[in-house]
Amino acid sequence: MTGRAGTVAGALAALAAVVVLDLALAARSWSVPVEAVLDEPAHLLTAWLLLTAAGVRSRQVVAWALAGAVLIDLDHLPIYAGFAVTAGGGRPVSHSVTAVLVLLVAAGVWRAQRTRLAALALGVVLHLVRDLGSGPGVPVLWPWLSDSLRVPYAVGLAVLVAAVAVVAVRAWRDGAGTTASPGRTTPGSPPHRQAG
Ligand SMILES: [Zn+2]
Repeated sequence: MTGRAGTVAGALAALAAVVVLDLALAARSWSVPVEAVLDEPAHLLTAWLLLTAAGVRSRQVVAWALAGAVLIDLDHLPIYAGFAVTAGGGRPVSHSVTAVLVLLVAAGVWRAQRTRLAALALGVVLHLVRDLGSGPGVPVLWPWLSDSLRVPYAVGLAVLVAAVAVVAVRAWRDGAGTTASPGRTTPGSPPHRQAG
């Protein structure tokens, strides 16, 4: 299997795994730890699929975005300790553009960590994409709007199917480009080390 075919197979497998995890999540009400064990891998797979569809290749950006896509759920912990961090009983208010803006401002101020912080912000956005279609939705515009926004599950699923389609089309197009000039070899680019 070529690298491109592998990427398409990986995208399809990620989509299938998210659907299976969502079926398991919907099958009954789970304890919080079990729900986390089912939900966080689905967040990672969703984020990876959308990053792949968007053509993000930087390993550093992918790694930090995947971290952001799961770490934002740590904001649920104060709820279990009895703190009121939600607006109207839904998900915590940090499940919003506010968290994204805070990270982007931090990226602007802390230049040395700019890429990592911006990637974390991207990861939070990818997290919210999945949360929009589940549970109570997300207070995406807090503090400007306290209401949680929720979209039908099918919308989120359609976004993932579209992402797989984008990955497949890109792989097919890249493959066509390669076969169009079979005699040519691409000169190897010098190995470059990514700083930081
Ligand atoms: Zn969440």
